[in-house]
Amino acid sequence: MRVPESSTNSAPVRLRIPDLFSDDRRCIGTGETVSDLRLGRGKTAIVVGGGVAGMSAACALADAGLRVQLVERRGYLGGRASSYRHPGVDEIIDNCQHVLFGCCTNLIGFYTRIGVEKRIHWTRTMTMIEPGGRRSVLGPSWLPAPLHGLPSLLTAKAFTREDKKTLMRAFRALMRPVAPESAQTLGSWLRLNGQTEGAMERFWRLVIASALNGDVDEIALPYAAKVIRELFLNSAEAGAMGMSSVPLSELYSGAEQFLRERGGEVHFNAGVESARLDEETSGWTVATRAGELFADYLVLAVPFEVMARLLPQMPPAAGVEALAEQIERHEHGPICSVHLWFDREITELEHAVLLDREIHWMYNKSRLQPGRNAKGSYLELVVSASHKFAALSREEAIDLAVRELKEFFPAVAAAKLEKAALVKEVRATFTVPPGIDAARPGSVSPWPNCVLAGDWIATGWPSTMESAARSGHLAAEAVCAFLNALRTFLSPDLKPRGLMRWR
Ligand SMILES: Cc1cc2nc3c(=O)[nH]c(=O)nc-3n(C[C@H](O)[C@H](O)[C@H](O)COP(=O)(O)OP(=O)(O)OC[C@H]3O[C@@H](n4cnc5c(N)ncnc54)[C@H](O)[C@@H]3O)c2cc1C
Repeated sequence: MRVPESSTNSAPVRLRIPDLFSDDRRCIGTGETVSDLRLGRGKTAIVVGGGVAGMSAACALADAGLRVQLVERRGYLGGRASSYRHPGVDEIIDNCQHVLFGCCTNLIGFYTRIGVEKRIHWTRTMTMIEPGGRRSVLGPSWLPAPLHGLPSLLTAKAFTREDKKTLMRAFRALMRPVAPESAQTLGSWLRLNGQTEGAMERFWRLVIASALNGDVDEIALPYAAKVIRELFLNSAEAGAMGMSSVPLSELYSGAEQFLRERGGEVHFNAGVESARLDEETSGWTVATRAGELFADYLVLAVPFEVMARLLPQMPPAAGVEALAEQIERHEHGPICSVHLWFDREITELEHAVLLDREIHWMYNKSRLQPGRNAKGSYLELVVSASHKFAALSREEAIDLAVRELKEFFPAVAAAKLEKAALVKEVRATFTVPPGIDAARPGSVSPWPNCVLAGDWIATGWPSTMESAARSGHLAAEAVCAFLNALRTFLSPDLKPRGLMRWR
């Protein structure tokens, strides 16, 4: 493991900028100019956690000229959005299908920074299938936002006329922003707004609650309203759905290369156990399972439960207790995925929403990730927010998934199931009950020269890759602020279009 020069005992004394130098003067010993330092050149940072938050923070900091060491506990990048070789089926699988949307400007910004944005496959339609096979396709039309989705909703066979009326009424009400401090749950709001059982089951529970990975009665209304506005109202661009055309961890090889080309490093299998602050230099020493690392700045980009375990291993500081109390208020929601390999093609669809059954989403991985060259077809089925499904054994879950899949795609009955895998992620996401914002800290940490990142940080977004990428960009901005080198990494939101511009 390489120790950055500036952190060894023989390192030149670093003088405080900007008070002592003008921009073109050179720093004693290092030869760096003050403007180098202002831009972060010659400065070092350790980023703990190689998930989307850690990678986006690390790459933004490397972009600002810092030498970054990204430290990851596992042998690959991606965290909760990653791929690995599953020993049971000897295939590279994503731990779960991950989708993004056009409104995920920071995630797209991160992909663009590392040069992989073209590997995202975009689609604007969503096919809903009823048991028996009847299909309804939701998607945009030429009408201005928020009316662009109306024609497809009006012709969707999956909803009755009464369902459609109540859905349109709800959409209209949600065109106005909901106060972020509202203590109402989505469920109570839907009941007040007279939603039919069909609208509840086939839209609110299946599409919205599953996107937020919770029960309608546990989801804070402002988070649900945000999803509705971004995905269905603001513009067709914001609601376009993206999926990686390569396994997720392959997507991040761009991040590894990006960091190495800028003098950084990625340390795998190096779980961080503790961190120490040097009071004199205000630099950090981080103890990992693979050895010690040193840097000027520290970014902790780990999930909340890992942060809770790290807290006692960090230096005492005012604010640690308050952070611990915030973390305690967080809870996890599970997501399961069933991976099925058949000897033949089951459907021409790339993806679909499956109505009225335990399985919710179908992703045709053979089509979405054509590089796999799989014989027959590989489908992934995703079940969100279901503790009941997560409690099933592997055999029970796979049997149920195949049985239900037959109801949507008759080809399953004649096909041979070659192999199957079940992935249960019991700590998939954090839940967003009313009041959760008070438990989401900002990037500022209780310690000097140390910032926080992770999807659970205060980004205003639910537990998603976009929230993680935003938190990473905010963390990088906070480190640059320590350097008096103000940089903007946060990508602006997509502007609402059409009539939504005046909302
Ligand atoms: C099954 C599933 C489906 C999902 N579907 C979607 C979706 O469709 N769309 C979407 O946007 N989001 C989805 N999410 C949520 C999304 O994956 C997360 O919000 C996001 O990936 C979180 O990123 P993160 O970097 O904040 O945290 P993580 O991904 O958890 O990254 C933290 C990293 O820190 C590492 N780490 C932990 N402890 C240490 C340590 N001590 N030392 C060093 N490293 C450590 C971990 O190994 C990990 O790599 C899904 C999540 C799951 C699990």
